[in-house]
Amino acid sequence: MNQAEAAHSLLLELRRLRSEGIRDVYVEEESLLSLEKTLQENFTVPSSKGAAAIGANSPSPSPSPSPSPSPSASTSSSLVESPEIEKVKSGEPPGAVIRAFAENDLSEIASPPEFVLPDGSKEERWNWLREKVESCPTCLSELNPNGKVVFGNGSLDSDLFLCGEAPGAEEEQQGLPFVGPAGDLLTKILEAMGLSRDSVYIGNILNWRPRHGQAYGNRPPTEQEMNFCLPYLRAQIEIVSPKVVVALGKTATDGLLGHDPNRRLGDCRGKWSELDGIPLMVTYHPSYLLHNPSKASKRKVWEDMLLVMEKMDMSISEKQRGFFG
Ligand code: URA
Repeated sequence: MNQAEAAHSLLLELRRLRSEGIRDVYVEEESLLSLEKTLQENFTVPSSKGAAAIGANSPSPSPSPSPSPSPSASTSSSLVESPEIEKVKSGEPPGAVIRAFAENDLSEIASPPEFVLPDGSKEERWNWLREKVESCPTCLSELNPNGKVVFGNGSLDSDLFLCGEAPGAEEEQQGLPFVGPAGDLLTKILEAMGLSRDSVYIGNILNWRPRHGQAYGNRPPTEQEMNFCLPYLRAQIEIVSPKVVVALGKTATDGLLGHDPNRRLGDCRGKWSELDGIPLMVTYHPSYLLHNPSKASKRKVWEDMLLVMEKMDMSISEKQRGFFG
């Protein structure tokens, strides 16, 4: 990964953190200086239409001057001194890269599909739906080259339905949800709960990996994309008819409970909501834990999972209760 790619990944990660409700990030002084240098060297200033390009070879006709960090700058406040990152923090689109793909590379998405599930066994209905999704013209047209549509999978009799955001690189290659690093962590969390991965059902808000014109990183789905795929997800929930749904992260929460600009994941995690009469628990996405592997973050997710286990009438051992004690 070159410096421009690293800076781009960082911006995407900051955007994800913001969507997870994180408002402060600790940055070492040395990292901050190197980031500022990279941003100045690689970013062009967005035009009023916001379609500026990024890249190691992009010309930098007028890099925005950024104030130097304060002497005691290895704190979260120094982060805002980079103009690109300040936008992330204030809720604006974080600059050239994100805006470039948001404005130029996104296609219009069709209206959400309307359909009625056929009668039949769970398996028959699920197979019907899977075939419908895997041949859905919109889903197919949104795929990256060599990418596959990713439909949910797992036990149709499961009491637990986990919902993620959208396939990543590994998922679109294999056509299966949560088979990359986030999936590995999810499997570990499930195992700690005493559940095998095969015994639960795992779906995503989106059935394709959102395209963004870069060979690396993931883009969160747009509202239009989410709205399109939601009927497919809700139909999976109807078929499985679980005791509990878990929304993994902000996108899953917004998709399942409706978009709310004031929602902060940190505020609504660990509390029960309801989706068509089914208890719904919001928790952090496993990729958030991969990027924030602090004991405090892990403990929060685990506390949420203990609540889920209680709701599912699972027995909980003293060891399980004390994992992060
Ligand atoms: N992240 C998700 O939200 N879903 C996947 O399938 C993989 C990673």
